[in-house]
Amino acid sequence: MRKVQGFINGEFVSSGEYGNIFSPATGKLVCQYDITSAEQVDQAVQAAEAALKGPWGDMSIQDRVDILYKIADGIEARFEEFLEAECLDTGKPYSLAKHIDIPRGAANFKVFADTIKNAADEAFHTPTPDGTGALNYTVRKPKGVVGVIGPWNLPLLLMTWKVGPALACGNTVVVKPSEETQLTTSLLGEVMNDAGVPKGVYNVILGKGSVIGEALITNPGLDAITFTGSTGTGERIAAAAAKGVRDSSLELGGKNAGIVFADCDMDKAIEGTMRSAFANCGQVCIGTERLYVERPIFDEFVRRLKEGAEALKLGKSEDPTTNMGPLISKSHREKVLSYYQSAVDEGATVVTGGGIPDMPEELAGGYWIQPTIWTGLPETATVVQEEIFGPCTHITPFDTEEEAIKLANDTPYGLASSIWTENNSRAHRVAAQMETGICWINSWFLRDLRTPFGGSKQSGTGREGGHYSLEFYSEMTNICVKL
Ligand code: NDP
Repeated sequence: MRKVQGFINGEFVSSGEYGNIFSPATGKLVCQYDITSAEQVDQAVQAAEAALKGPWGDMSIQDRVDILYKIADGIEARFEEFLEAECLDTGKPYSLAKHIDIPRGAANFKVFADTIKNAADEAFHTPTPDGTGALNYTVRKPKGVVGVIGPWNLPLLLMTWKVGPALACGNTVVVKPSEETQLTTSLLGEVMNDAGVPKGVYNVILGKGSVIGEALITNPGLDAITFTGSTGTGERIAAAAAKGVRDSSLELGGKNAGIVFADCDMDKAIEGTMRSAFANCGQVCIGTERLYVERPIFDEFVRRLKEGAEALKLGKSEDPTTNMGPLISKSHREKVLSYYQSAVDEGATVVTGGGIPDMPEELAGGYWIQPTIWTGLPETATVVQEEIFGPCTHITPFDTEEEAIKLANDTPYGLASSIWTENNSRAHRVAAQMETGICWINSWFLRDLRTPFGGSKQSGTGREGGHYSLEFYSEMTNICVKL
């Protein structure tokens, strides 16, 4: 049986207590992991505190940058291993993870190595009453020990999105991946050792969020917590971080809208919406679960999206023709299916999907679900209001630009939106009115890692990406010199 272990102070550790990992594709037991004990959580935090005072704390930015590049090279050198582990854990198609998850895992170290290398310190010449003046400048220091808590949908990508900048700024980290997906976070420990990362800089603890996650976020040795996950857990983390007045960065859920105008390029809008609604089996925080389509093209759009959804090929990760995997777990499928039922109960027209697909015998125990499209529901319907995190979307017709903007913004979330139109003036005008952290025009999930990423309203606090990440992961000291 394959085993996964926590990684503390440069070593893989065992506690003698094991948890099980089931394949989302087959439902079969594929792996066991070593549940980190409460004492080991403490040891991980202490190792991270000690490493701050050790060689990592004294290292020049250039040396740190060189190590970050070696980490990225290490991921690339073991690309197939990371790919296999990520797909075993999540059931996602190799074709997806090959182009998104694993390359971005490596890129997150290179981009933030470059960002810290090119970051300038601020300086101001300040007038003084005696006329001699003063020079104010800033010095950037690490924030300290950062707790990193990640979700299961894009495990390596979203974990390294936090660990890359945290290490670039000279912090040490204790990472808790979701219990559902721990393989690549643990494997990264080997890469860290090979890249010469000092002991205690990167630590991994394994176990349930409600137990091990809680032990981490309530540990007084943490100086900051960075989190990607649901809004409910985000609220709990913000409360835990408040004890001791520690900083937190929260990237939370979304109920993202897509607006499709009649003057769009229909082929591009369908291709983009197929990805935004169904990629990663709809388990993407920036995914589109609400679509507003201008009435003249409504029927054609619904018909073409239906054709696209019905052409998706569900299957094994390693099959190159597969373009949709299963949901992450049995319990998540139950949750998504309960939304499928509530759509029907509330009077939806089920355009396609709505249930569990027939799968070949070897995959029949997996957590497969049909891509689903609904129409006909009012805005108050549960599936139009609540984040589902599955391969499903509801489509509503609209008549005016103002109406579309109002409908898109009528949600407690504010993570992402997308607009499809060939009218440039309209595109910019509407995008500026979206109450979301990011708005794509004629695209989706087109990311430049130098730009700010995060959510407004209940989708999160703060922004990360480029120099925005440096701000969260650094403590700034202002030095004022009287001349
Ligand atoms: P959860 O909030 O349930 O879990 C996220 C992480 O938090 C997991 O590692 C989980 O551990 C851990 N956790 C749970 N409870 C606690 C706790 N009390 N203390 C510390 N850690 C805890 O989210 P999901 O994993 O279900 O992820 C899906 C959600 O994440 C969706 O709502 C989605 O929108 C959001 N998300 C947001 C993104 C963004 O960038 N804004 C990106 C991706 C997802 P465990 O799983 O082991 O219980």
